[in-house]
This record gives sequence, C-alpha cells and structure tokens, in this order.
Amino acid sequence: MSRIGIMGGTFNPIHIGHLIAANDVQEKFGLDKVLFIPSGQPPHKPDSEVTDQEHRFEMVRLAVASNACFEASRIEIDREGYTYTVNTLLELKKRYGEETSFYFIIGADVVPELKSWREFEKVFRLCEFVAVMRSGFSERSFYSEIQQLEAGYGARIHPVQSRLIDISSTEIRERCMNGASIKYLVHESVEGYILENGLYRGQLENGL
Ligand code: ATP
Ligand code: MG
Repeated sequence: MSRIGIMGGTFNPIHIGHLIAANDVQEKFGLDKVLFIPSGQPPHKPDSEVTDQEHRFEMVRLAVASNACFEASRIEIDREGYTYTVNTLLELKKRYGEETSFYFIIGADVVPELKSWREFEKVFRLCEFVAVMRSGFSERSFYSEIQQLEAGYGARIHPVQSRLIDISSTEIRERCMNGASIKYLVHESVEGYILENGLYRGQLENGL
C-alpha cells in the first residue's frame, strides 16, 4: 500500500515554489514519493508559448535530483498528442496497482479550472487533491470553490496551509527576458541550465 503525490504542470520552468509546496505536502500527508509530471503538449497552451518539452523535463530532472522522495516522470511527455490527467491517472493506476492512493497537488489557481478538465468526475474518483494557497488569490473563494466541488461532484480536496511562496514561472520567464537575475528563485542547477541554453531570452536572442 503506498501513497503517491503527483505534481503536474507545464514547469516552464520549475521554480522553488513548486519544490517547497511538494515538500510541505509530502511531509504533511506522509507520501512515499512525489512524481513531478511535466505536461507534453498542453491542451490549453499553443505550441509557441511552451519551451521545448525536453528542456522543461531536463530542468525538472535537475531540480528534483537531490531529493530521494521526488521523481521526474516522462509519462505525459512520452505520450503522443494532447495529454489529459484522466489518462495519466489511469496509466499510473496500472503501473502502481489499485491499492496505491494518489494525491494530486495543485495551487489555488488550478482549483477553479478543475471542472474544465476532461472527464473531471472520473478524475475525482481516481485521486484526491491537495490544494495549496498561492499569493494573490482570495482565501474565501479558495475554500468556497473547494466546498462546491466536494458537495456537487464528490471531489475530495484537502486544502493545506503551505508556505506562501510568491513565485510563478511567468515571473521567471519575464525576468530572463529582461536580463534580471533568477538566483534563489529556481534551483541552482536550473538557473545554470537556463543560462547555458539561453532559454527565455526572447527578443534578446535576436540581438534586440
Ligand atoms: P505559469 O506562470 O507559467 O502558469 P506556474 O508558476 O503557475 O507557471 P505551473 O507549471 O503552471 O507553474 O504550475 C504547476 C502547478 O504548481 C500548479 O498546480 C500550480 O498551481 C502550482 N504552483 C505553481 N507555483 C506555485 C507556488 N508558488 N506555490 C504553490 N503552488 C504553485
Ligand atoms: Mg500556472
């Protein structure tokens, strides 16, 4: 019998907000491990907006390498075409067995999106959610949205008081674009990878 956390996302790039949230939840829920699953071709974001999936995966791999409880998973990247959480969960059930419990970790921004996920009611049966507050979001709507999903659709969502880490991948990309430092906002290995590969430099790359 095992308890596995899932941290899904674009991870464009992975930052310390993701790592701290996953670590807090792993500890609070006594999870055996947390799988970090970078999305393949995300259904909601056009190709051009998303840095090559191999770069995103490599940064996740580097960021989690020093934690024995964390694992980078290629499950969505290796699947052809669009990836949906429902398929990922079905495959994980097959791999880890029926008796494994899955805890899908999400930030407050994802809670109101859950109802737009493909076969979301099936997703609610396949895993429990652990929802972490993010700064800039209303706590009141956070709790009321969770309550509505639980009452209306049988979702199991555990809100947790994790630390509020005010960092997003959007901010990291913007800082890179402006030539600002991303030191301490991402794992050192990720900072090195971004600089070596000249990621997120946007127009700067064209000499502008
Ligand atoms: P972007 O700005 O590109 O949307 P992001 O920082 O939101 O990037 P994602 O890859 O979209 O990162 O997020 C993956 C998951 O991690 C989502 O569930 C998101 O809510 C959560 N998450 C992201 N940043 C934080 C943070 N600072 N604290 C807690 N959860 C976070
Ligand atoms: Mg996001």
